[in-house]
Amino acid sequence: MKNADIVARDLKRVWHPCTQMKDHERLPLIPIKRGEGVWLEDFEGNRYIDAVSSWWVNLFGHANPRINQAIKDQVEQLEHVILAGFTHEPVVNLSEQLVDVAPAGLTRCFYADNGSSAVEVALKMSYHYWKNHGQASKKNFVNLSNSYHGETLGALALGDVALYKDTYQSLLMDVITAPSPDAFNREAGETEEAYALRQFAEMERILAERHHEICAVVVEPLIQCAGNMRMHHPIYHTKLREACDRYGVHLIADEIAVGFGRTGTLFACEQANITPDFLCLSKGLTAGYLPLSVVLTTDNVYDAFYDDYQTLRAFLHSHSYTGNAIGCAVALATLKIFRDDKVIEANRQLARCMADSVAHLRDHPHVGDIRQHGMTLAIEMVKDKPGKTPYPWQERRGLRVYQHALSRQALLRPLASVVYFMPPYVITEEQIRHLAQVATEGIDLAVRD
Ligand code: PMP
Repeated sequence: MKNADIVARDLKRVWHPCTQMKDHERLPLIPIKRGEGVWLEDFEGNRYIDAVSSWWVNLFGHANPRINQAIKDQVEQLEHVILAGFTHEPVVNLSEQLVDVAPAGLTRCFYADNGSSAVEVALKMSYHYWKNHGQASKKNFVNLSNSYHGETLGALALGDVALYKDTYQSLLMDVITAPSPDAFNREAGETEEAYALRQFAEMERILAERHHEICAVVVEPLIQCAGNMRMHHPIYHTKLREACDRYGVHLIADEIAVGFGRTGTLFACEQANITPDFLCLSKGLTAGYLPLSVVLTTDNVYDAFYDDYQTLRAFLHSHSYTGNAIGCAVALATLKIFRDDKVIEANRQLARCMADSVAHLRDHPHVGDIRQHGMTLAIEMVKDKPGKTPYPWQERRGLRVYQHALSRQALLRPLASVVYFMPPYVITEEQIRHLAQVATEGIDLAVRD
């Protein structure tokens, strides 16, 4: 089979996610036949380094032999069983192990099957907790500007990226939006920490004034990934945890994108030294293999639902594939690789290599910012460097980087004008330097008028 054959068939029948399909009249669709490690390979043998981990999911490379084996072993035993009234070994083992590695105090695991669904679970649980405690007036949520939490209506309402949200605004619940601690917007000479503290003042004010009507604050700790990889200082979350405790408001940490080592620690919350009331995980949970998500919560939350059936306090929420056995087996294999290969420690050298290999871009006349938390690094192209003026989105400068990268064996998929690396952890230093070279060429091309 040739690339062109499968592409032609695809374009007749498949509707692709997050895509204006008309773009494919001129942008080639890339059909992938096989993957191995960081490489994706098409039907004609062209190869691409997956620098974005296929939407931030892949951790240990494509077709990883250890994970493949875990799937084979599990599928011979049990593929899936209803998780209401029944259980199975992988879900029990996984729950025990997640509780062991998660921030202290998270003791209960509730499963769903994708990131957005995990966010929905956390929102409903938080609201329901307050209701079970006789505080049904708590029904609002606080989010941060520039946040993203998924595409289902509840999760979309909690997001603040206009491109995804605006069209559907009239379908969405109202939320209270506090300004993001996004360090890109700090004043010249202001530290990231000082800026985060300054931005926190408004959050504090909202909680002080309206806590009686607020269930929870929802945040993406350290990196607003879909919000153009904007980053901030962990102090914000330390302060937020204190304030949530003071005002009796839940803290929901959406680590769907940043969990499992992307920020340099297994979970981003560790850097703020906090335990959220709800921790949402997906993506890296299964190392990029299968859709699975989980919400970890506390005994305190769990206990609010534990009662006689007739009191109707139970959390009657379900998804057909909740706690899928093969997904859980993959997640167990993923956690084993983290332990066996001391992945978090090993990643420090890769993170340093990423930083070093793009350092020269700091002086580039159209690079307004280079930022990094651990294994995630972003380079923001700007029209005017001193004022950090953005390029108009209509110019789609990032797309030029994407197209150039494809011609140089790399899958870079900029968000607007932000070129970023969030690679699988099996990437080599040589491959990182290649990506940096490709990104540099791409940026040079993209900023030409
Ligand atoms: N939250 C965050 C922070 C995300 O980055 C994403 C996905 N990009 C989601 C939630 C939604 O996850 P899913 O796409 O699996 O629904």
